Amino acid sequence: MIQLQRPEWVFMGGELRPWDEAVLHISTEAVTRGLNVFEGLKGYWNKDATQFGILAMREHFKRLGRSARMLHIPVPVSYDEFESACHQLVRALYDPERDMWIRATLYVVEGHWGEGTVADLVLTAYHQDKNPPAAISVGVSSWQRSSDITLPPRIKTSANYQVARLARIEGRRHGYSEMILLNQWGRVAEATGACLLMVRDGQIITPPPTEGRLESITVQIVTRLCHSLGISLVERPIDRTELAIADELALAGTLAELVPICQLEGYKFPASAPVMDAVRDRSWRAVRSVEPHDAIELCYV
Ligand code: PMP
Repeated sequence: MIQLQRPEWVFMGGELRPWDEAVLHISTEAVTRGLNVFEGLKGYWNKDATQFGILAMREHFKRLGRSARMLHIPVPVSYDEFESACHQLVRALYDPERDMWIRATLYVVEGHWGEGTVADLVLTAYHQDKNPPAAISVGVSSWQRSSDITLPPRIKTSANYQVARLARIEGRRHGYSEMILLNQWGRVAEATGACLLMVRDGQIITPPPTEGRLESITVQIVTRLCHSLGISLVERPIDRTELAIADELALAGTLAELVPICQLEGYKFPASAPVMDAVRDRSWRAVRSVEPHDAIELCYV
């Protein structure tokens, strides 16, 4: 469980600081209103553990900027400063036996109700097992994904994860490791920390962001992988009942990676998932630099 790790260093205030010194004052909007935007990035060792590359770094920085813009938060760093900060922290913490997940957060540390807003870039990084994720059981939550005019799911801000947390608590009671959130129209939005991919008749289908999912970088990557593999991928709304009759279901996200779903609310899915297995295999070979792919851009540390 990444939450339980206590790494030695954190990047905050433009420098590496010991874990215990990475604190925010209770008067900041970051604390009083939970005001922040963030990204989760993944760093992979190549197959021989000689090179460590952070995936889709520029795309993550761009999305951080979009989230910040929607909340009127000025971005305090350039792309080069962001890259250098990630490299500093990773170098201070990395271990060739394990991959890493890096959380990049802009916490609002000065300002009030949108006046005089100043944010600080804070980076934390946690070790991750190198094994590909195993298949999981998933439920459909009774909690709903907020809409674009309530709390826009397009903004990657912590407040959006309050409902996700409730859904996870609900799921745990039923033995599910992840939960699907439906949108205000009762259709599939996404999972609590990943997007949903559904396979029907050889085609991969995922809801568009206008159905209440994050503008996912993994979905973007999968789309490009599929293109080169000759697999069709379309973005269209997904009804709840379609989940029961899908040929394959999977989750897609930076931290989650590509996770097969073996059971959804009592509906079982076969262990063999040829379409998603082909995508997973190609993706694995690219992130480990066994067979590079244009869609998998690694920024080497
Ligand atoms: N939806 C939510 C709510 C998420 O937190 C994530 C993880 N960032 C995703 C989808 C997947 O997005 P990405 O592929 O960019 O990691």
